[in-house]
Amino acid sequence: MRYYILLLLALLVLSCGIVGPAEEWYVDLRSLSPVPEIYSEWHHEAEHCVNVLREFNDIRWFVAQSITIDGVRGLGAFDSPRDIIIKRSQLYTQSTVKHELIHYIRQARDHDARINFCSHATKEAPDG
Ligand SMILES: [Zn+2]
Repeated sequence: MRYYILLLLALLVLSCGIVGPAEEWYVDLRSLSPVPEIYSEWHHEAEHCVNVLREFNDIRWFVAQSITIDGVRGLGAFDSPRDIIIKRSQLYTQSTVKHELIHYIRQARDHDARINFCSHATKEAPDG
């Protein structure tokens, strides 16, 4: 059951990584302020997991009531080079925030095994 939920989450989040120009539609998009303190910790963990460093303070954070990209509902979005949009209901969901952080850290919209692993990796289980 747990794996179905993870797969479902992965599929929902996939919409943020469409290669090439995406038609994005946000409902009630606004600047996220203050940025939750836990984000810098999640950023540090994500950097460590993908083995790339990128400045946390350069990120511009946004929150939206809903996110639709190319007709697909998403939990988060990364707008290159430094904008991250998180669906309001996902603001404290580590896997969603880390997923978008990894797009930013790698400056890539790739959805490979690494982004899936590192989105769910925590300090307790750093290597799988
Ligand atoms: Zn993505």
